[in-house]
Amino acid sequence: MNKPRFHIVTFGCQMNRHDSEHIAGALREAGLEPAGDLDDARVIVYNTCCVREHAEERFYGQLSQLAGLKRVRPEVVIAVTGCVAENDGEQVFRRAPHVDLVVGTEAAAGLARLVESRIAGEGGRLCTRDASPDDLADAPSLRESPVHGWISIMTGCDNFCSYCIVPYVRGREKSRSMDRILAQAEEMAAEGVIDVTLLGQNVNSYGRDLSGELRFAELLQRLDTVGIDRIRFTTSHPKDLSSKTIGAIAASSHVCHHIHLPVQAGSSAVLARMNRHYTKEEYLQLIADVRRAIPDVALSTDVMVGFPGETERDFSDTLDVVHESRFDQVFTFMYSKRIGTPAADMPDQIAQETKQDRFRRLMESVKAGALRANEAYAGRAVDVLVEGPSSKDPSRLTGRTRTNKLVHFTASPALRHTVVPVTITAARTWFLEGRLSPRSDSVPMPRQDAATWEG
Ligand code: SF4
Repeated sequence: MNKPRFHIVTFGCQMNRHDSEHIAGALREAGLEPAGDLDDARVIVYNTCCVREHAEERFYGQLSQLAGLKRVRPEVVIAVTGCVAENDGEQVFRRAPHVDLVVGTEAAAGLARLVESRIAGEGGRLCTRDASPDDLADAPSLRESPVHGWISIMTGCDNFCSYCIVPYVRGREKSRSMDRILAQAEEMAAEGVIDVTLLGQNVNSYGRDLSGELRFAELLQRLDTVGIDRIRFTTSHPKDLSSKTIGAIAASSHVCHHIHLPVQAGSSAVLARMNRHYTKEEYLQLIADVRRAIPDVALSTDVMVGFPGETERDFSDTLDVVHESRFDQVFTFMYSKRIGTPAADMPDQIAQETKQDRFRRLMESVKAGALRANEAYAGRAVDVLVEGPSSKDPSRLTGRTRTNKLVHFTASPALRHTVVPVTITAARTWFLEGRLSPRSDSVPMPRQDAATWEG
């Protein structure tokens, strides 16, 4: 007999993609198989994001289109999990009566069991947001890639930035046991995973809620010896990036010299209203400290324009910080109201045209900075972990450096999922171009990207 098939649609951040891999693993353990597409699926799971209004509306738009499918095939089980499920609860049924299961973020570990019972014809429509005794991150995982993996080291957030809905939908900070994280990393190393990203809303505060003194710096030190070549982490809150953690990154062999350090805004007054707990000067000092300790570091950040009350002068502070920090990559956003957060009720909301104008000016500065940062790679040799054919030009391969730079080059598709040396021949704003080369052919990057392949 054919096994029932499932299809998962994932919105939002890497944490959601990681959760989807574990939901997929749990569904497979429950006897289901992945489906090629929606039409082939007996079970459809939406793993949702409500951090931005746009993602939420896109999800509801897609969900409404399933009403017709449910009429034709009433046996199909439709489940909604993730942040929208947590935030909206029963309201999901009001907007989409064809949904069978609404499962909150902390209840997601029980999703596979609920699906199993619906397939068996047991139980009716259900909304649950009760925390499961199990941890979704402990469920088996069906990874998207054989060489990339994610490990959740903590969930939730205690920071309550005034624009952010995450602490309300993901709960308070909860660190996973270090032994469990190390065991998962060892399993991945044995399976041939090359690149692992440690996930948490604020990884720098890892361990604060556990007994004992072990913290994020110790976790990095221990992971450095498990046999994984590239260890990354995201996201870091600047107020919690300790000198001990910076030292651990600098001293490690396998923790990539890339730190994502969201600044959000350059104005100290705006940062105070955002409840970020650092000033412009403190942030710039932190960047200087990081660069002193890790000279080859690549830095990325998030920047938001149009926060309530942001003046032209505040915005010019943001441009200052972007310029002075010499970021390799900047993820840019326009502030959008999230109902239920303090910022949604703040006076002086910024007009859309002003936000768009500032966004455009920010992008000009970001583009110039990104190109400058990429030009430093010209003529250098870097190790590239090949992801596969480029989506824009399938005759070329695409991959990433240890510092997370995207590189396009021409070589055999057989190199997919291997690490190869590439000499950078041209720098573009958003990527690098290169050619495959033996080590002797190129000038090593004066950083950990230096090629090691002898080919
Ligand atoms: S640190 Fe701030 S922005 Fe990040 S998840 Fe927590 S509340 Fe949201």
